[in-house]
Amino acid sequence: MNALDEAKKVNDWVFAIRREFHADPEKSMEEFRTSARVAEELGKMGIPIRRLGRTGVLGTLEGASPGKVLALRADMDALSIQEQTGFDYSSKNPGVMHACGHDFHTAILLGAAKVLSGMKDQLKGTIKFIFQPSEETAMGAKLMVEGGALENPKVDMAFGLHVIADLPIGKVVLQDGGFMASGDNWECAIKGVTAHGSSPWQGVDAIVCASAIVQGLQTLMSRVNDARDPIVVNIGTIHGGDRFNIIPGKVEMTGMNRAFSVTARESMPTWMEEVIKGTCAAYRCQYEFTYHFSCAPLVNDAWATSLVKSSVAKVIGAGNILQIPRIMGSEDFSEYAMKVPSTFMVLGVRNSAKDCVYSQHSEHYKADEDCLPTGVASFIQVAADFLS
Ligand SMILES: [Zn+2]
Ligand SMILES: [Zn+2]
Repeated sequence: MNALDEAKKVNDWVFAIRREFHADPEKSMEEFRTSARVAEELGKMGIPIRRLGRTGVLGTLEGASPGKVLALRADMDALSIQEQTGFDYSSKNPGVMHACGHDFHTAILLGAAKVLSGMKDQLKGTIKFIFQPSEETAMGAKLMVEGGALENPKVDMAFGLHVIADLPIGKVVLQDGGFMASGDNWECAIKGVTAHGSSPWQGVDAIVCASAIVQGLQTLMSRVNDARDPIVVNIGTIHGGDRFNIIPGKVEMTGMNRAFSVTARESMPTWMEEVIKGTCAAYRCQYEFTYHFSCAPLVNDAWATSLVKSSVAKVIGAGNILQIPRIMGSEDFSEYAMKVPSTFMVLGVRNSAKDCVYSQHSEHYKADEDCLPTGVASFIQVAADFLS
């Protein structure tokens, strides 16, 4: 079997359905039409499905005889962005756009399912096709796992991929260890006492206190965290005051933190609160601080990565499998990776000749469609090798 040849047989269909998904994007947890289409197509392939996590779809393909269980995963959600690509198949839904390439992931996994369903007499074991909702809010994978996607039968290995604008077409990245950082968010309200701007001693200035907190939080990276284990503390919003001549009694801040290690990730709320609490005491303010653990770091398993690498090398050539610096962005594929040996591949889609140069989440985002057969063939080859 040549996986790339098999992928090319369904290429026209994959291209078409990708553009269909692109034209009809749906926001996180609202992937109703997309998941209905996925379920319909899996049904036509004779793959039994289960609905999980509100808009998720789990297809389970049994091979000719029992064996190992492989999970292949795609995410289906789009973003609240007004598309500006000018494609004739641009989003028809105002303010919603597939600007992260999840339309590619869904089409690639469906293409692989179409080929693999036709090969099931040669397969020993089971393939679970996980079409999850809501990757962008880091909710979807959790819902699929909680719904039992990795159980009955128990998954032995999981594999997923993401198209990335930074990587040239024809290249992929597969590497073991910590690959993508955690993404956790927080809110902080600083409370002082409002006063007339001419009489600061009669109030407690929340903006001055918040300014000191902003500065103090940035020293966590350089003086508190182990410098060999990177973290990011990002203050994304800060709002305070109503008028130029009033001492503001309240400031609200929100932010998002990143880490690769469990130790650093779990320490950050405490570290932050020490700075906030101490600074508020010094500036006579009160505070409220809430921290939400959202998306865990994604760690690629060494065994799974080496298996997948040897399969993907057959598709694309070992020389096109690259190593890159770790990614500080997050990916909720980590939910599967925490439960079963897993690996996550980055698929290159950058091509300046086709104007595919814009970053993920850009309103101009374009990905080279020639990545589609590579993605489909990678899933096919990994499945064929793992279940042979
Ligand atoms: Zn995204
Ligand atoms: Zn994405």
